[in-house]
Amino acid sequence: MTTSDVQARIDQMIADGVKLPSPPAIAVKILNAVQQEEPSLTELASIISSDPALTAKMLRVANSGFYSLQYEVTSIGKALTVLGVNILKNIALSFVIAQEMRGPIDQGFDFDYFWRRSVTAAVAAELLADQIGHQSDDTFVTALLADIGVLILHQAMPDAYSKVIEDKKLSGDPTSVVETRLLGINHCEMGSAILERWDLPATIYQTIRYQHDPQQAPEEYQNSAELIRIADELSSIYHDPNCGEKVRLLQQQLMQSFDLSEEKILHLVDAVASRSIDILTTFEIDPCDLKPYSQMLQEANEELGRLNLSYEQLIMELKGAKEETDRLAAELREANSKLRELVFRDGLTGLFNHRYFQEVVDREIDRAERYRTTFSLIMFDLDFFKKVNDTYGHPNGDLVLMNIAHIVQKTVRPSDIVARYGGEEFAVILPETDESGLKVFAERLRRSVEQMATLIDHKEVRITISVGGTCYPVTAGKIDKRLIIDTADRALYSSKNNGRNRVTLLPLDV
Ligand code: GH3
Ligand code: MG
Ligand code: MG
Repeated sequence: MTTSDVQARIDQMIADGVKLPSPPAIAVKILNAVQQEEPSLTELASIISSDPALTAKMLRVANSGFYSLQYEVTSIGKALTVLGVNILKNIALSFVIAQEMRGPIDQGFDFDYFWRRSVTAAVAAELLADQIGHQSDDTFVTALLADIGVLILHQAMPDAYSKVIEDKKLSGDPTSVVETRLLGINHCEMGSAILERWDLPATIYQTIRYQHDPQQAPEEYQNSAELIRIADELSSIYHDPNCGEKVRLLQQQLMQSFDLSEEKILHLVDAVASRSIDILTTFEIDPCDLKPYSQMLQEANEELGRLNLSYEQLIMELKGAKEETDRLAAELREANSKLRELVFRDGLTGLFNHRYFQEVVDREIDRAERYRTTFSLIMFDLDFFKKVNDTYGHPNGDLVLMNIAHIVQKTVRPSDIVARYGGEEFAVILPETDESGLKVFAERLRRSVEQMATLIDHKEVRITISVGGTCYPVTAGKIDKRLIIDTADRALYSSKNNGRNRVTLLPLDV
């Protein structure tokens, strides 16, 4: 839009009853004092000094380190001589306008955020100007008031402006584009026009007008407009959650446009925050959690470190827990198998017990039946064992039992099962063993016990066994377990009856 289009649009707004802000009274006085042919220093000093709060703020800024003064400035008069009329005027205008344009919070506009952002932009502009050697006293105030058009539009037409904010969120278009679409004027044009009406210098309002497209500006304002544009981006680092990406883009831009080193740029970025905290306090604006970018990075790294650490700890703990679980499971497995063993073992001799013997006979019957194979069963009982107990005592009798168990265990094959059937009666199951095998083994068993001697009270105690056996015939089909055991038992008693220390084999009576 041309300047006259903008004027026409503003006139129309006024005609429609839209109220535009008038300049703060003290700003008018300040501007009048400095715009005379011969600016009156004393008049300017007295205008500012008449407002103690403003005076205090101005002295704070003058001494804040922004202007690298050699002496502390303690009065406005002194500040005027040291800083000059123009700078002092600009500082005063900044405070006065920012103070005036702070509407009520319930208008749905975050004034604190607005001014926080404007102050950091002003600080960024001042620091950047210093870095690139852009000499102007107006830089700070121009950047500070750069977006004042947003405030003016919002205050003049709150309902229409909320639609602008909504539309911007939905469309993602730049603010000024949406403003022109919905209001017929954008905030740069509005702010510029109002500041012109307030009689602010052209360097300020022209720069503001072209801040988003510096190339369109009259040549004399192009540099300052570009400066304001970059300063705005620089300050936006501190108002954008995606600041890492912003910093990278800005770095490229600053390196290309102004040949600044990476180190200088990062220093500049940090300085924007640290200097702004100071200035924001003077403007009575809460800096919130504003902190230098490098500190943000450091804190983020520390947080990341902590997260990684706790993640590693978690992994370690999980690993530890897994190892512990595995260990416990292995222990449990071992305990279980031990328990199972114990359940099936005889405590005195270590041989399999009666219960396991029964299971094995069942199993062997099944197998013999299914695979048409055979197995043999031997039962044997100690001869005259009572006498051993009576002569040497029960504990020595136990010794003999253990000794026999040991000998028998040594005599059998690994696949044979030796069990203590009860008291001093034993059983041996011989898988895959037919009658001839049974006969050989039973005889060997009888003989090995016969040849064995147990040392009791320095005496060799000898004992014999009576053996009975039977064999499961290959083609027998299913045979009752009791029949098999009874047959072996009968054979055993046949041995007893026939003089003991002998082997009797009986066929299954099927
Ligand atoms: P037989 O030749 O007729 O078998 O004569 P025997 O003396 O062996 O007679 P019997 O079978 O009637 O007696 C078995 C004895 O074995 C009786 C019992 O005290 C003893 N006995 C049974 N179990 C144990 C044991 O665990 N330890 C000891 N020391 N003796 C046992
Ligand atoms: Mg006996
Ligand atoms: Mg007996």
